Amino acid sequence: MKIELEGLSKHIPSTSNFITIDKSKCNGCNQCAIICIVNLWKVKDGVASIIDDYKTKCLECGSCAQVCEPGAINFMYPEGGTGIVYQYG
Ligand code: SF4
Ligand code: SF4
Repeated sequence: MKIELEGLSKHIPSTSNFITIDKSKCNGCNQCAIICIVNLWKVKDGVASIIDDYKTKCLECGSCAQVCEPGAINFMYPEGGTGIVYQYG
């Protein structure tokens, strides 16, 4: 399923990395890829990675970090004034 965000939100890309992954902890379970509604994660050869330009597409829901049982994903909200901005609703 694809969510069309245009018109509902805008992104002001964060200048800092607000999602990081410790690949040494990743067990390749694929839960991050399953939970991410905008499909930013890929698991290849048993290790997860997020797309390079995730800052412009991430909804900052934090779900990927929540479902990662080994704690391989670190999520922090972008610093104030950056990230996703919801224009309606
Ligand atoms: S949820 Fe965590 S352990 Fe599972 S594939 Fe994603 S990063 Fe790796
Ligand atoms: S915070 Fe949400 S939208 Fe962003 S990468 Fe994680 S699951 Fe996907």
